[in-house]
Amino acid sequence: MTKKLYIKTYGCQMNVYDSERMAEALDGYEQVNSPDGADMILLNTCHIREKAAEKIYSELGRYRGLKEANPDLKIGVAGCVAQAEGEEVMRRQPLVDIVVGPQSYHRLPELEAKAARGEKALDTDFPEEDKFEKLKTRPKAQRGPTAFLTVQEGCDKFCAFCVVPYTRGAEVSRPVARVLAEAEDLVSRGVREITLLGQNVNAYHGADGGETWGLARLIRRLAEIDELKRIRFTTSHPNDMEDDLITAHGDCEKLMPYLHLPVQSGSDRILKRMARKHTAAEYIRLIERIREARPDLLLSGDFIVGFPEETEEDFQATMALIEAVNYGQAYSFKYSSRPGTPAAERAEVDPEVAADRLQRLQALLTRQQKAAQDAMVGREIDVLFEKPGRLPGQMVGKSGYLHAVHVTGEVAVGQISRVRITESGPNSLGGTLL
Ligand code: SAM
Ligand code: SF4
Repeated sequence: MTKKLYIKTYGCQMNVYDSERMAEALDGYEQVNSPDGADMILLNTCHIREKAAEKIYSELGRYRGLKEANPDLKIGVAGCVAQAEGEEVMRRQPLVDIVVGPQSYHRLPELEAKAARGEKALDTDFPEEDKFEKLKTRPKAQRGPTAFLTVQEGCDKFCAFCVVPYTRGAEVSRPVARVLAEAEDLVSRGVREITLLGQNVNAYHGADGGETWGLARLIRRLAEIDELKRIRFTTSHPNDMEDDLITAHGDCEKLMPYLHLPVQSGSDRILKRMARKHTAAEYIRLIERIREARPDLLLSGDFIVGFPEETEEDFQATMALIEAVNYGQAYSFKYSSRPGTPAAERAEVDPEVAADRLQRLQALLTRQQKAAQDAMVGREIDVLFEKPGRLPGQMVGKSGYLHAVHVTGEVAVGQISRVRITESGPNSLGGTLL
């Protein structure tokens, strides 16, 4: 009998992708949308901020009743909390049967068998073998028109605040042939838009025989797949934004006019203390060059406020950078100290001061985002339709700039249609099919 698997995913898009691959690794299970009645619950976790890890423990506590009702229920913790805390997860929450890190989830079937024998199963190795090689095909992938494809993992940059180099390990790129094969497979299942993923995706350097391909070359090759209509990539580091990738934004039609390029701070002093290895002026100049290649580019970023030793003057430099760049989308976070990172040793900013700064920064970013969205009204753009909307006859899709767009009319999922934008709502655009 097919067993039921419930996976709850936290954190970044790479985790969304990994959750799909974990479901594929577990033969004999079908994925369900609720933990009630499940035979296995997997939490695919994020460790980027302290709150993220605490959320996992409170979620686990909620499964006590389910486990009491069904002692055969197996509970697993995967992802970066599993990697960072290892056995501690089981000590802190004895309900947990399986702990598996992001580099070893292809071993889930063996871990599940061990748990079925009533033993605790733990694997947080960084194994030699490639998990993607073990999980070659994507048999369960029931595809909508968009998909994530991880091409690169891990990070060697060691920004002073960040756990990724510790939880995801050293930077590794998947070979070109495997990425192409997976993309072809996805497209044959109806995918029309692929987002290439990596913690530092623009540092991609995939092997192809004796050669090494950068991200721009990979994108150009993917663009040759006829039925693949749109390509995106995330997340990028400013220092890896090489000339050919900038050029690709101008001349590769399938590469969408949206770029997520985190800067974290606009203060050179703080950027240095963060070990970002570039200045605010260098970042602004880089943005200018990318916009020369693609003037309508919508820019997105990440910001950390209240990094240790940040003064009001440093914060004002971040606000000035935001004014200078003008973001169409952004994510901002209050600094969260992560054990084992260099910044964890430093004097923290008063939490109330940090909260106040975050509020001011978010107000500015929200204004910019709203202005970028409102500026779409009156324009004619292509929309890739993804699913029916909430109202009868309504369909929802995405613009090239990643704005959600809804229309009323006859249009199929997976179709790209021309739409005139007529209204800008709180979180989406409305338009009419042309
Ligand atoms: N590799 C990407 C880069 O360099 O921009 C970022 C990857 S990280 C998973 C996503 C975002 O989380 C970062 O850009 C940063 O803004 C935020 N972040 C990471 N560590 C953090 C911390 N300790 N406290 C607050 N935010 C953090
Ligand atoms: Fe973390 Fe990104 Fe810095 Fe790597 S480049 S350490 S993933 S913030």
